[in-house]
Amino acid sequence: MRHHCSFRRLTCAVAILIALAAMLPLGNVSSSLIDAGRGFPYRAFSELPSTPIKLKGGSLEVAFAPGSTILPRADILGWAERSARSVVSYYGRLPTPTAKVLFVPVPGREINGTTYGYGGAASRVVLGSDATAADLEADWVLIHELVHHGFPFIVGPRDWMHEGVATYVEPIARAQSGLIPVDEVWRQLVVGLPQGQPRRGDRGLDGTPTWGRTYWGGAMFFLLADVELRRRTGNRTGLQQVLQSTVAEGGNITQQWTIDRFNAVGARATGTDVLGELYECMKDTPRNVDLIALWRDLGVKLVGRNVQYDDAAQLAHIRGAITARLASPVRESLSALRPGLVERSQVNAEPKQYSGNEAPCRSFPWISER
Ligand SMILES: [Zn+2]
Repeated sequence: MRHHCSFRRLTCAVAILIALAAMLPLGNVSSSLIDAGRGFPYRAFSELPSTPIKLKGGSLEVAFAPGSTILPRADILGWAERSARSVVSYYGRLPTPTAKVLFVPVPGREINGTTYGYGGAASRVVLGSDATAADLEADWVLIHELVHHGFPFIVGPRDWMHEGVATYVEPIARAQSGLIPVDEVWRQLVVGLPQGQPRRGDRGLDGTPTWGRTYWGGAMFFLLADVELRRRTGNRTGLQQVLQSTVAEGGNITQQWTIDRFNAVGARATGTDVLGELYECMKDTPRNVDLIALWRDLGVKLVGRNVQYDDAAQLAHIRGAITARLASPVRESLSALRPGLVERSQVNAEPKQYSGNEAPCRSFPWISER
């Protein structure tokens, strides 16, 4: 499986690469470093020296394809480490025992990335040779790619899940680690999410693989899930616990999961079926989200480029919790969680039968049928 994410505001494509491709002989390695040929990018790590970065849960191997950069390698490695630490902090560990990042210098200042899971967690990051330290610090791509490492390939037309989770989590992980201000998380969501609303002819998230619905429609799904999980659990659990539990249960980019499996892990982690309900609500029907009401309830307002908060808003405490660093990360296995919660949630994790189209949306006051 491969996620290609070059500037989420422009293009993205996701493809599944057969595992066999990794075993076939390669031609010219140096050209394949640019062109993503067979065996890519894994073969590069047997051809090039790599630097290990030790992190909680594993090791990130960083290699550089031939080419020069104006920034010293040490600066790029430092940026890679800060980025990886931010993702490790969000997930509670490096999602896989080993992960690889291959930097490929190209002319200019662009940074874009592609993530692969068919031969282990690996990302190729195209790095403009003229990129400055400020370019790296402002960059979202590397963290977006590393967030992909911690989410399984969900079988079916679910690119909106892969890209939605990466789009939603990336700024939150950065803010939790102090790499960007919290204001930037909300500014991006307020500006970006309207692009995720259904348009004419929409057939729900599973049936509408447009750019807007894939990235921002997916991000909207995960924001709504996060808010509703927190609302329903008295702000005790949210999406971060679900994603930490997913990683703890072995869910990562190298694994294929059904959506039912992911939703069941979410149910066990939170004692609610919010994810299952929200999926039922949004999977095959266009649902418009009343973002104005959502921002009002969370107490977020964009005035020009400045974010203003209303701490008296109904869900202001939830808004604060979303970007706060998690005090107690989920442990290695769900069985290590509060036993009562796991037991109770096994009941809740049973698939529900919905009688009508509207039923699963009832819990989500911001959602209406378009
Ligand atoms: Zn992506």
